[in-house]
Amino acid sequence: MNHTDPSRDTPEPVDLSIVIPAYNEEGNVAAICSALRSVLEPMGLSWEIILSDDGSRDGTWEAIKQSHAADPRVVGVRLSRNFGHQYALLAGLHRARGTAVITMDGDLQHPPDLIPELFKEWRGGAKIVHTVRLDTIKVGWFKRMSSRLFYRVYSLLSGVEIKAGMADFRLMDRRVVDDLLSFREEGLFLRGLVQWIGYPSSVVSFHVRERHSGQTKYTLRKMLRFAWAGISSFSIEPLRLGLTLGLLTSALAFAGMLHALYSYFFGDVVAGWASAVSINAFLFGVLFILVGIIGDYLGRILQEVKSRPRYLVSEETDSQADRTRDRRAY
Ligand code: UDP
Ligand code: MG
Repeated sequence: MNHTDPSRDTPEPVDLSIVIPAYNEEGNVAAICSALRSVLEPMGLSWEIILSDDGSRDGTWEAIKQSHAADPRVVGVRLSRNFGHQYALLAGLHRARGTAVITMDGDLQHPPDLIPELFKEWRGGAKIVHTVRLDTIKVGWFKRMSSRLFYRVYSLLSGVEIKAGMADFRLMDRRVVDDLLSFREEGLFLRGLVQWIGYPSSVVSFHVRERHSGQTKYTLRKMLRFAWAGISSFSIEPLRLGLTLGLLTSALAFAGMLHALYSYFFGDVVAGWASAVSINAFLFGVLFILVGIIGDYLGRILQEVKSRPRYLVSEETDSQADRTRDRRAY
């Protein structure tokens, strides 16, 4: 199979690409483009903004087309449906021509003013410049707590250290982007992969802003699914859970047996119906959870084996790109 990087079809590189996933962000497209333009213009670089429309159902694509008409350095790629934040980023990364590439959210929560600082760190030799969100009240306590807990569990299970508050706002060197694009795995979890890749990196912190317009696209359900995708694509520890639980419950059962023998010889014989049933019920619960976990991993293997394209493109603002069939699916 040919896995060549489609961005190579367009040879002309730019200094900096900004990749932005957008799902129902019609009220933010024009705003983020103009905010970025006023930051990028004084930097004296060649740049491009790539907006990746993740199957929006509002006017996002029209807004992207308008921004492209006003400034051809703004380009758009439209996925055929909602594939999720990570795949929208991937589609954008595939099209990025920059020597350095920045990914950021499309709702202006990631401040464009930070870009010169990220760029400076990269010039200073960092191949990856991470950002860490300083926790403020603007991030709800639930998000703060759940994110902290998740990254602790995640680091423990996967051995890949991610700090709480690290999001998909970062600068990557061309080399890192190419490495990332060479990975063909399902259950894409860029945060983990970027850490796993290595290279000299640095971290810049920022204060998160309020969403410019619209609402968060991360429902609790989406967040949980994302968290599980992250863990299960990096760690097989959950599969080993069975072993630990099995040992524990066996020890418990052994103690129970001793107790039963003791009461048989020295005490009254107790019926013990309730305790027997509850232990049974508990063990069945544990068993089903484990079967579920195994099923989930099996499902992932199935997806991986089918090796379907991870996203499909329906349209691009760059008509040149449309003709290259190769670029449509990854
Ligand atoms: N997003 C996307 N596809 C999705 C969900 C979100 O492309 O299925 C984009 C969204 O448009 C935004 C970014 O991912 O640019 C982060 O989403 P959001 O701001 O809703 O998340 P939050 O900041 O609340 O965690
Ligand atoms: Mg946001």
